[in-house]
Amino acid sequence: MGTTTMNEQTKSQQLIALEDKHGAHNYHPLPVVLERGEGVYVWDVEGKKYYDFLSAYSAVNQGHCHPKIVKALTDQANTLCLTSRAFYNNVLGEYEKFVTEFFGFDKVLPMNSGAEAVETALKLTRKWAYEKKGIEENEAKIIVCENNFHGRTTTIISFSNDPDARKNFGPYTPGFIKIPYNDINALEEALKDDNVAGFLTEPIQGEAGVFVPDEGYLEEAKELCKAAGILFIADEVQTGIARTGKLLAVDHENVKPDVLILGKAISGGVYPVSAVLADNAIMEVIKPGEHGSTFGGNPIAAKVAIAALEVVRDEKLAENAQELGELFRAEINKLVEESPLVKLVRGKGLLNAIVINDTEDSSTAWDICMKLRDNGLLAKPTHGNIIRFAPPLVMNKEQLLDCVAIIKKTILEFKK
Ligand code: PLP
Repeated sequence: MGTTTMNEQTKSQQLIALEDKHGAHNYHPLPVVLERGEGVYVWDVEGKKYYDFLSAYSAVNQGHCHPKIVKALTDQANTLCLTSRAFYNNVLGEYEKFVTEFFGFDKVLPMNSGAEAVETALKLTRKWAYEKKGIEENEAKIIVCENNFHGRTTTIISFSNDPDARKNFGPYTPGFIKIPYNDINALEEALKDDNVAGFLTEPIQGEAGVFVPDEGYLEEAKELCKAAGILFIADEVQTGIARTGKLLAVDHENVKPDVLILGKAISGGVYPVSAVLADNAIMEVIKPGEHGSTFGGNPIAAKVAIAALEVVRDEKLAENAQELGELFRAEINKLVEESPLVKLVRGKGLLNAIVINDTEDSSTAWDICMKLRDNGLLAKPTHGNIIRFAPPLVMNKEQLLDCVAIIKKTILEFKK
């Protein structure tokens, strides 16, 4: 970040101080101030170039400032930005047709953030339970998994077990049953309750530290839900849109969720766009006035999402993630053998994490991320001394091997 005297701060330091003074301290960012992005690279305000190995928590799968997506944004922004759903607009229907065909569902309900889409799915599931399944009003329960991450709203944190996310935000929303992740017997047991309406799960737990369930878990879970006559709800906000080497992570097991939740990369990180997809028999329970959002399904979001999904398809990003993911884990596995500091690497496609061999509360993962930053690669620790590695999916093999070299060098040279 350059040299400083007592009175002289670098531009980065000034900008960090500005945020610190005027912004709520609800994040703990790595100290790097970015001002430009292109493809797999970002540049800080001092002009230093980095590989982005987080992709805005998997929102920027298509790479920074993808020209096709940015063009869709600017063209539409110059034409019509927002109508609200009080009126029709000439692009929402085009998007709805496109996105439902793309993912194979009858209907979409457009929202903005991932958390809003999760909330939408929960409301949809409850309403379906009362109106279609015949559960008595206010009795519906939704099964969720321990160590889940589905967002930050009051209801969503009600079924989190992260103390930071929950403490002093109560009282909490009732109606959730928490079971261990990747435990099919626990699901079977929980499903014995007649008031269960749905099972909400991440196909891979991202924020928890990239926990990949056993092969067959999702398929069995879906089968159990089907047999119990309840909804299987997949939160693919982080795992979706090619990140794990398939369009959706559930595609690895050929599972079709009853309710699909998407966010982040559905816009390539260009604009907040999220979506809930379901077939008519479920989605038809929502009628006018019962749910909505001023910005949901706005013309810019519609055009941006079409462009972002076309990029995923045309540039074969799922295939690339699959191939590069295998290469990445093979290379990092060599590092696991060489370095006592790295316990293991796990993941699917280009959603991976390394587990650091140290106590959960030590700062080793953070310190490694600081060194990675110095060496030109940006990544961030997640819960429990784990570093998530999720580069944009437009990365090529040469760039990936360059990144592997940076990671290896940084870790092998690392001293506490
Ligand atoms: N669901 C999952 C699986 C996520 O990983 C996230 C964010 O990381 C969300 C929901 C919430 O999305 P947003 O931050 O856009 O509200």
